[in-house]
Amino acid sequence: MNYRNFPMVPRVIFGRGSFNQLNEIIAPKRINTSAPFIFLVDDVFKGNAWITSRIPLSYEDKLIYISAEEEPKTEQIDALVEEIILSTKERASGIIGIGGGTIMDIAKAVSIMLTNKGSADEYQGWDLVKNPAIYHVAVPTISGTGAEVSRTTVLTGPDKKLGINSDYTPFDQVVLDPELTKDIPKKQWFYTGMDCYIHCVESLNGTYLNAFSQSYGEKAFDLCKEVFINGELAPEDSQDKLMMASWHGGMSIAYSQVGVAHAMSYGLSYLLGTKHGIGNCIVFNHLEEFYPEGVKLFKEMLNRHDILLPEGVCADLDDSHFDTMIAVALSLEPLWENAIGKNWKKVITHQKLKSLYQKM
Ligand code: NAD
Ligand code: ZN
Repeated sequence: MNYRNFPMVPRVIFGRGSFNQLNEIIAPKRINTSAPFIFLVDDVFKGNAWITSRIPLSYEDKLIYISAEEEPKTEQIDALVEEIILSTKERASGIIGIGGGTIMDIAKAVSIMLTNKGSADEYQGWDLVKNPAIYHVAVPTISGTGAEVSRTTVLTGPDKKLGINSDYTPFDQVVLDPELTKDIPKKQWFYTGMDCYIHCVESLNGTYLNAFSQSYGEKAFDLCKEVFINGELAPEDSQDKLMMASWHGGMSIAYSQVGVAHAMSYGLSYLLGTKHGIGNCIVFNHLEEFYPEGVKLFKEMLNRHDILLPEGVCADLDDSHFDTMIAVALSLEPLWENAIGKNWKKVITHQKLKSLYQKM
C-alpha cells in the first residue's frame, strides 16, 4: 500500500467579522510596492459597500470583478492571466478570491497559471503542475462546495470538465467569515449547501471510506442535518455551522472520493451548462437505489424548504446528447469505483445511465 501525502490549508481564520482583518493577514506577504495583490471578486458585490469598502487596496493593487453566472473555463483563466501579466510591472504578490466555488476555483487556477507556462487546459488532470503557485487566499461568501479546502480547481476545457489536482492548488490562507453569507438568495443557499450534504453521503457510503474521511464526513453530515432538518437555529448559528460543514465535507472527500451524483452531474454540466449545486440536486433526487437513506433525507429537506427542482431537463435531448453526457460521466472512473466498487463496470452500463438521465 502506497499512501498519499496530502497538503492542507496551512492558515485559517474563523469568526464573524474576521474579513476586517484581511489587510493585517496579507500585508506581510507583499513582495514590494510594485508587486500588487489582485482581488478577484464576485460581481454580485459590485456596489455593495459593506463588502467592497473592506477590500484593502493599496499601492498598485487591482480589483477585478468576475461573474459567477457560468462556471470557470480554461480559456477564461488564460485571458485573466494575460490581463494580469500585461497590467502589472512585476509578478503579483498574491491572488485573493472573494466569492463562492466559482470565484475560489478561478483564484486557484490563476495563481497556478501565473507561474506555469502554456494554457490552463494543459494542467487538467492529476499532478501535472510543475511550479508552485503564487500566494493565494480564499474568502468564501457562500458555503457548501469545500473548494476552500480542496486540492482541486474544477475547470471546463475544450474537451473535458476536469480539475487541476495538484499539491500547489490548495489555498495558503482561508478567511472564514460566516457573516459574509447572510444575504444569499434562499434557493442558492440550498443548492450550494446540498453540495456539502451530497459530498458527505457519497463519501460515507463509498468503498474508499476510511477513518480519516469518516471523521470529517460524519461531522459535516451532522452539521448539515442541524442546518437543513432540525431547523430551529438562529440565522447566525446556521451560517456559522454551514461554513464549518463545508470545510469538513471538503476534508472528507480529500482522502476519499465523491460518487454517483457528482459523476452524472458533471455530464449534465458539460452538455447543458447546469451549475454544480443545482445539477447535483437534480441527479441526487433520482438516486434512491444507490443512496436510499441519503435521498430520503434529501427529499425531506426539499419539502421543509419549499424547493421545487427543475424537471424534464433531459426531455428534449437526442441520442447523441445522451452519448456525450454518458461519456463524460463514465470517464470519471475513481468516482464510480468509490461508489460501486472495483466491478462497477458490470453495474454501470451505458443503458443504465441513459435510463437514469431520462428520469431527470
Ligand atoms: P457560485 O460561486 O457559482 O455562486 C452561486 C451564486 O451565488 C452566484 O450567482 C453568486 O454570485 C452568488 N453568491 C455568492 N456569494 C453570495 C453572497 N454572499 N450573497 C449573494 N449572492 C452570492 O456557487 P458555488 O455553488 O459556491 O460554486 C459552484 C462552483 O464550485 C462550480 O464551478 C463547481 O465546479 C465548483 N466546485 C469546486 C470544488 C472544488 O473542490 N474546487 C468543489 C465543488 C464545487
Ligand atoms: Zn460537489
